[in-house]
Amino acid sequence: MLTRLASTSHEELHRVEDRDSGLRGYIALHSTRLGPAAGGLRMRTYDSDAAAIDDVLNLSRGMSYKNAAAGLPLGGGKAVIMGDPSRDKTPEMLRAMGRAINALQGRYWTAEDMGMAPEDMAEIARETRFVAGLDHGQYASGDPSPITAKGVFNAMRAGAAQVFGSDDLAGRHVAVQGLGHVGWHLCRLLHEVGARLSVADMDARCVTRAVRELGANVVPLSRIHATQADIFAPCAIGGILNARTIPEIQARLVAGAANNQLATPEDAATLHTRGILYLPDYVANGGGIINVAAEILQIPDSGPWVAERLDAMQATMAKILTRAEGEDLSPARVADRMIEDQLLQVAV
Ligand code: NAD
Repeated sequence: MLTRLASTSHEELHRVEDRDSGLRGYIALHSTRLGPAAGGLRMRTYDSDAAAIDDVLNLSRGMSYKNAAAGLPLGGGKAVIMGDPSRDKTPEMLRAMGRAINALQGRYWTAEDMGMAPEDMAEIARETRFVAGLDHGQYASGDPSPITAKGVFNAMRAGAAQVFGSDDLAGRHVAVQGLGHVGWHLCRLLHEVGARLSVADMDARCVTRAVRELGANVVPLSRIHATQADIFAPCAIGGILNARTIPEIQARLVAGAANNQLATPEDAATLHTRGILYLPDYVANGGGIINVAAEILQIPDSGPWVAERLDAMQATMAKILTRAEGEDLSPARVADRMIEDQLLQVAV
């Protein structure tokens, strides 16, 4: 049921199939240079196997960069299940995925991603110990979102220092797209320091709550990126920074939690040319994987360990911003180059 496929760009690519449970998916290990490949399990519908392979290859490469940027002794990996999580997900399917992950003997560690919840990880944990993001257990790390939000908040302050000359976010106007797990925590942190919020989410309930509890201003879904604000914080979908949206962005700083915010690598240069400082997403949102890593690496009483790595992540972001300013390059380009150098320096 685990079939290894050829890949020129990744260390390993596997097709996962289980007829009895209907499981169809892929696991990709981009790099194990820094340690076991770690990255979440995503479940969503794909138009084709080729689309699922594309996704798992891109996502696992992204995890190599994210884990390296967060200073973790972990490589990059990812797994996908093809199907609608609300309709097709079954305990049998998750357990079959657990057996496939187990067969990789710890070269890949999984956790939650889109379409997965802690209880699904618990099901997978019945078949393998190479799973994190659990709610229970000696090293359980639980929901990573508050830590992710804290990391994004810290990054935003570093960006604000460069763009506005002060890292104080009091009185700054922040437009937040997505009020889910991370977006909501981020809004609370911003509200606490006196920032002004404009928000948009497809879920009317969280928008209403943001108005009531945080005094947020509501913006139509299609216009949140174009809000006349100081900072735009994408905390929902990928690809939001693209040829259509970038010319409409009014904020001078873009700092958010969403993965893969740039539709194409060239969009980083377009933002830079427009004088908009974009904080590379995989550096800004690394708090979540730091939290998960504490579970993978079995760090006892991991609070101080996580806090130390969040500080280091902030220092990395500051270094990227300083270099980018000095070399007149987009921080995304500088971050990619820094991580690629770091990966090359590690002996195979
Ligand atoms: P979530 O599913 O809890 O929240 C996403 C929110 O965005 C939902 O409330 C949803 O209704 C809203 N949304 C979806 N499409 C939208 C649109 N077009 N416009 C406005 N709102 C929209 O997800 P999350 O865990 O908060 O993660 C948010 C983003 O951050 C994702 O891209 C995720 O991959 C990334 N991320 C999350 C973590 C984490 O710790 N949870 C870590 C790193 C990166």
